[in-house]
Amino acid sequence: MDGMRPDGLAACGNPFVNELQAHSHYTLHGATVMPSVTLPCHFSLFHSVTPQRHGILTNTYVPQVRPVQGLFEVLHSGGKTSAMFYNWEELRDLARPDNITYACFASGHQFGYEKANPIIVDNLLRYFATYGQPDFTFLYLGWTDEAGHGFGWMTPEYLRSVSGSLDSVKKVVDSLGNDTLVMLTADHGGHDRSHGTEMAEDMVIPVFLYNRGLVSAELPTASILDLAPTTATVLGVPADHEWEGKSLL
Ligand SMILES: [Zn+2]
Repeated sequence: MDGMRPDGLAACGNPFVNELQAHSHYTLHGATVMPSVTLPCHFSLFHSVTPQRHGILTNTYVPQVRPVQGLFEVLHSGGKTSAMFYNWEELRDLARPDNITYACFASGHQFGYEKANPIIVDNLLRYFATYGQPDFTFLYLGWTDEAGHGFGWMTPEYLRSVSGSLDSVKKVVDSLGNDTLVMLTADHGGHDRSHGTEMAEDMVIPVFLYNRGLVSAELPTASILDLAPTTATVLGVPADHEWEGKSLL
């Protein structure tokens, strides 16, 4: 969930937050990277290195000068299938060509994210029902960031977008088999109508590793760099030797 502040989860009043906390290893004090901006943070999430290393410092993609393998490449090398459902088009460069099994994009800019979120979730559910779950699926929901920029972080309109996005997540979670690990997180937070600074409001992110069979436990620390290594560990493929994060499980 783009721009989802951890304190927005409790404040939005969605009862699914209680279900998440009851069956997750989680922290409400996870750390993202600087600059706390969407594309640099997503590249760090998927490549487990800081923006200074991968070199994507703004929301404009540039090819890496000294390429680091990303999660999609590592999973493909390990014989795993993957899919991506998203509504912010800049994320198309998170995977290099021929490494991803299926991708589905609907434009938040053109539909508005409140509509584009359910469009991609419905496509995800249809894909899963028809072809089965890939080994790894990335679902990106952009409404929360749009509401933050439009109305301000933690405003009633922002909290409505958090709750509405959680409804979308719950719809997906309810469709999954019991052996699926759900990782719920954000790329950054936000303050006023912006983000990108080193303020805690921008830098602190929630990290939930959820499965109905898990007993609630707080993670001592978590970095956005840890999510790719965690995914590789769960799926039994080796992490890239350049990755800087560590598995949370
Ligand atoms: Zn973002």
